[in-house]
Amino acid sequence: MPADPPVTRPIKKLLVANRGEIALRVLRACREEGIATVAVYSEADRDALHVRYADEAYLIGPAPSSESYLSIPNLLDAARTSGADAVHPGYGFLSENAGFAQACANAGLVFVGPPPAAISLLGDKAMARRAMKQAGIPLVPGTDRVTDPEAALAFGAEAGYPVLVKAAGGGGGRGIRVVATPDELAGALQQASQEALQAFGDAGVYLEKYLLPVRHVEIQIMADSHGTVVGLGERECSIQRRHQKIIEEAPSVAVSPELRGRMIAAAVAAARAADYRGAGTVEFLLDRDSRFYFLEVNTRLQVEHPVTELLTGRDLVRDQLRVAAGQPLGYTQDDVSPRGWALECRITAEDPHNSFLPSLGRVRLAQLPSGPGVRVDSSLYDGLEVSPYYDSLLAKVIVWGEDRAQAIARMRRALDEFVLLGVKTNIPFHRYLLDHQDFQAGAISTSFLEGVMEDFGKAATANRDLAAITAAVLAHSGLSPASAAPGQASADGPAARSAWATAYRMRNSGYWKV
Ligand code: ADP
Ligand code: ADP
Ligand code: MG
Repeated sequence: MPADPPVTRPIKKLLVANRGEIALRVLRACREEGIATVAVYSEADRDALHVRYADEAYLIGPAPSSESYLSIPNLLDAARTSGADAVHPGYGFLSENAGFAQACANAGLVFVGPPPAAISLLGDKAMARRAMKQAGIPLVPGTDRVTDPEAALAFGAEAGYPVLVKAAGGGGGRGIRVVATPDELAGALQQASQEALQAFGDAGVYLEKYLLPVRHVEIQIMADSHGTVVGLGERECSIQRRHQKIIEEAPSVAVSPELRGRMIAAAVAAARAADYRGAGTVEFLLDRDSRFYFLEVNTRLQVEHPVTELLTGRDLVRDQLRVAAGQPLGYTQDDVSPRGWALECRITAEDPHNSFLPSLGRVRLAQLPSGPGVRVDSSLYDGLEVSPYYDSLLAKVIVWGEDRAQAIARMRRALDEFVLLGVKTNIPFHRYLLDHQDFQAGAISTSFLEGVMEDFGKAATANRDLAAITAAVLAHSGLSPASAAPGQASADGPAARSAWATAYRMRNSGYWKV
């Protein structure tokens, strides 16, 4: 228990310092809690859903996030003008910026997140490793910050290659470099350090052994200022592209109840070692022998938090708000009772048939899936302009099922219902993955996608050929274009076909006007 009794500060009006689906997610929780809401927006986001949803909205600058969503003075101005008494940073942007958390505190605002000291400690991945080592938590074999090539070579010789050079201030899958042989190491170290300085404002790098094959398994934690720390179970996030998650699920097929208990205990110890408060995620790598290794702590709400919400029935944003207001969490480890299976697909505006390049433009029609066990957290609306300024995440489709098979079946059904015209998305790729037998068997690791990419490309080409043949045959037989239309989308695989067919019917019925 902390020495001083925690101060309770009720939140009456909250400003969300973010955009997109996560801003809307936070605003919804506030609405349920009876908290007045303030949105902020850049010039590119005037019509955004979060702006329309909030009680008030303030323009904070032009489209580039450096002049709007990342501008601490502009955000504090909006907070002052609106009379907000709290700030929720969402994820990305300033959510892991200790300076912002401190600036909020200095301005008399409740920051819905951990204390600045915990953000600083855990945001420096090399420092976090040191703290976790002291707390007795198993680490990925690695080093402190390194500048000396000799020290790096000594680690490489001891750990074996390949090794990774990682930026101490890195995040979002960026700032990670694979080094296959000792002769590449000195150069990689220097280059990585320069890049890290540019990208993260910190030249610090450290080394880790490149563990393969492993799963990414993380534990959601929630801590209050009354001494309670709870672990809400794991999420398996091994389906990654360029070290960024695209499908997440819970529970993990690789985690037994006994292992879960040990991982939760380690995550709770990590939170205690950092004097943590609020929602956080302790990320681990899990090897084939069920050994787990600390990777990092994300000191914020995670993109994939809804997976845990569906599994446990808890509202993590509501918990965040309560804890930030100084209230006790109100439940303990014994009250956490996960049920069934949950899956999330991140839907991004990227073209899977063209090296996942961002797909920009205007959304003509967005028709979101629904029905039993389906939740969609999205920033989509008809007419949304997908711009190059921000992250490509458009929506998250999250499903719940009694077991993994039902969750997968529901996700396939939900993605088939998802109609999105105007920009390309990764939905066809998700559909392909969900059909993959290794995914269905749960035989996955962080390198799963590497092997799958090429097959996906081949399958897509085959589908395109098939579509051309089908179209030619249909044209020759004099069938109506309506029945031929779905074939156009078969370049995207059978998944997109039915969504396309729906859209086609809607256009013919006059629903959709371009
Ligand atoms: P998670 O484990 O929650 O997915 P990530 O490290 O992938 O965490 O980052 C969270 C999200 O925030 C991702 O969608 C990422 O692309 C986005 N993000 C990270 N940094 C920024 C930033 N500076 N501005 C906007 N979005 C960001
Ligand atoms: P970020 O801060 O960008 O999220 P992480 O350290 O969490 O960086 O790593 C992101 C991903 O990169 C992990 O989920 C994992 O797939 C891969 N990765 C990172 N470090 C290692 C490692 N030492 N061995 C194997 N894979 C790793
Ligand atoms: Mg990470």
